[in-house]
Formats: sequence, structure tokens, C-alpha cells
Amino acid sequence: MPQRISDVLFTHHHYDHNGGFFDVFITSWRTHITAERVFEGRSVPMQVYGPETTKAIIGKMRESFEFDVKLRISYNLSDEAGSRIEYTECNEGVVYDKDGIRITAFEVDHRPVYPAIAYKFEYNGKTVVISGDTIPVANMEKHAAGADLLVHEAYNKPWLDALIARYPQHEKALSNPAKYHTTTLEAAQIAQRAGVKHLVLTHHIPAPEANPAAEQAYIEGMADIYAGPITVGRDLMAFELK
Ligand SMILES: [Zn+2]
Ligand SMILES: [Zn+2]
Repeated sequence: MPQRISDVLFTHHHYDHNGGFFDVFITSWRTHITAERVFEGRSVPMQVYGPETTKAIIGKMRESFEFDVKLRISYNLSDEAGSRIEYTECNEGVVYDKDGIRITAFEVDHRPVYPAIAYKFEYNGKTVVISGDTIPVANMEKHAAGADLLVHEAYNKPWLDALIARYPQHEKALSNPAKYHTTTLEAAQIAQRAGVKHLVLTHHIPAPEANPAAEQAYIEGMADIYAGPITVGRDLMAFELK
């Protein structure tokens, strides 16, 4: 339930990564009712983590919510504490260490978006690394070394090249991903070098249809580089680490 969300982590400030913040912020704060029960909204400030620039950018978004927020406090009687945000800006280092969960931020390279970061999550002897958006960087191999799960962004270069050949008038827009993202084969190489136990691809460009044949075509060539299991991520996927 969104009412359980009290902490939000940003990797960088492209709209496809922060555009849903208004919804998460208000939905986690407001009390939600169904025919069966009441889900009480968040009554503590939202904790927001991200690279430097996060407070300036998300702070401006928060200002734009003020009209709605004021009404929720005065009319809907939502808890005022929940209308606040506390920020932790950190490009490199431990940002969260509570109840056995440790989250470490580390820098990646998604220029011209600077800074951009990835996160390592450690809990109960298990490690998950989420890349955010980036070209291949040595810092990823370092922090993902031996991880149980690496969720890495990737684009399929041959598919993108074929689109460029088909739509030369869109060459500029279509060649942009190649400048600041990682290819599927490069992601396989990172997973192999870091010795991760399971690689999950995310942020697909161009996105394959969500069926095994299309997804198999999307990851073509990766198994020659990385011998571990490869999963093409789909929305709302969950992984259990045993
Ligand atoms: Zn991005
Ligand atoms: Zn993105």
C-alpha cells in the first residue's frame, strides 16, 4: 500500500525517474478507504534521498503541491508532519542504516545529467544493486562485486541501429540513448566481471514486448558473455532472495 511508503530514493533527475513524485507524496500521506477498511496515511515527514541537486529540484516540486497540501491540512485534517520532506543528499556513501538495512549510494556516469547515482542495498547477508541510468563505469563493478541481484539498465544496440536506418529523420533523437546508457552486451560484461549471481535488465530501449520470444531476442548474445541467469524486467516484478 502506498501508505507504507515513507522513504523515496532518487538516482537522478530525468522526468522518467522523478515525474511520479507528486502521486507518491500525496498518496502515501492521504488516508485511503476501501469498502472493507481504512489505510491511515503517513504521519511522519517523507524521507527523500538522492544526489546533490535533489533538494533544489524536488523542493520546487513540493512548492507546486502547496495549494493541495494546505487544503489537506485545513479541510481533510491530514497530519501536518506528513506534509514535510526531509532530504539526504549524497553522491557517494551510506545514506540509510536502520533495522539491519544498509543502503549505499555511489556515483555513475549519465552525463550531461550530473550527478547521477546507483544504490546498493544490503540486508540479512544479501546484496542488491540498482544501477539507475549510466554508461558502463568501474564503480559499478566495484560495488556490485558478488551481488545476489544486479538490476542494470540496458538498451539493445542492434535494435536501435535498425530504427535509425529506418527513420533517418529521427537520427538525432534515436542516437541519444547510445551516449549515456549501457548496451545489453555491456551489461552482460559488467555482470560477468562483477561476478553477480543474477542479472535483471531494466529501462529497455527499445522496449521488447513482454513475451518470452521478444525478450529472448532482446538479450541475444548476452549468454555468451555472462553465464548466470538473465531476466528481462517487467513492471511490478518481485524477486525473493534465499
Ligand atoms: Zn536518465
Ligand atoms: Zn531514464
